[in-house]
Amino acid sequence: MTTGTSSSQPFAVAVDGPSGSGKSTTARGVARELGWNYLDTGAMYRAITWWMLQHDIDPHDSAAVGRSAQDPELIVSTDPDGPGVLIDGHDVTEEIRDPRVTDSVSAVSAVPAVRERLVELQREAMAEGPVVIEGRDIGTVVVPDAPLKVFLVASSQARAERRTAELDGRFQSSLEDTLTSLNRRDLLDSQREVSPLARASDAIEIDSTNLTLEEVIQRVVALVRERFASVKPS
Ligand code: C5P
Repeated sequence: MTTGTSSSQPFAVAVDGPSGSGKSTTARGVARELGWNYLDTGAMYRAITWWMLQHDIDPHDSAAVGRSAQDPELIVSTDPDGPGVLIDGHDVTEEIRDPRVTDSVSAVSAVPAVRERLVELQREAMAEGPVVIEGRDIGTVVVPDAPLKVFLVASSQARAERRTAELDGRFQSSLEDTLTSLNRRDLLDSQREVSPLARASDAIEIDSTNLTLEEVIQRVVALVRERFASVKPS
């Protein structure tokens, strides 16, 4: 197999895109198929937002959020078969999907001190081994030299349907409310000053609207095998 990578490049695949574009399912599926680690950076921003709410820190008070950014202990699993996040010893894997967290996460993740803390943890996790890492700024900021960057997009309708299916009735919300919430978050995430949601100029865009997520996974796996010489087919 030929490769476009050099030994100094990180063994990382960056997957970015708007909310509900299928990033998590795709990144997890690719990691599973290749036997790589998986890192859900959105879960990290959600966990720190959960912690701010628990400590009665107003998510919109950026100075207060920034002052506390170093306080919680955050541990995130990189196992694609057992993703999860612990904050100060609490397993918040489920609670971080609560609409209270979803509504506040864009405000918290716009605070530079929060991003600095979490990007540092993300780079530590990347050092553990080959990783498929998903988020909003992975290809642009976290791993700008990733040998493969994928930017996933999908129509608003498809994104809202997927997000509703992912929540699986755990938090009651109509399709219309989910769509409004996704669009609001994407606007905030794209317009923030620090590390906004953006497609890296060298990212490969995949529109998943008319594809199953299994088809998206297989496309990305094929791209990985093209670009990384030492990836063995499973
Ligand atoms: O991916 P998910 O929808 O769980 O992400 C939740 C939020 O975390 C996003 O709306 C965004 O505000 C923030 N986020 C971010 N940078 C990342 C990943 C997520 O700002 N790399």
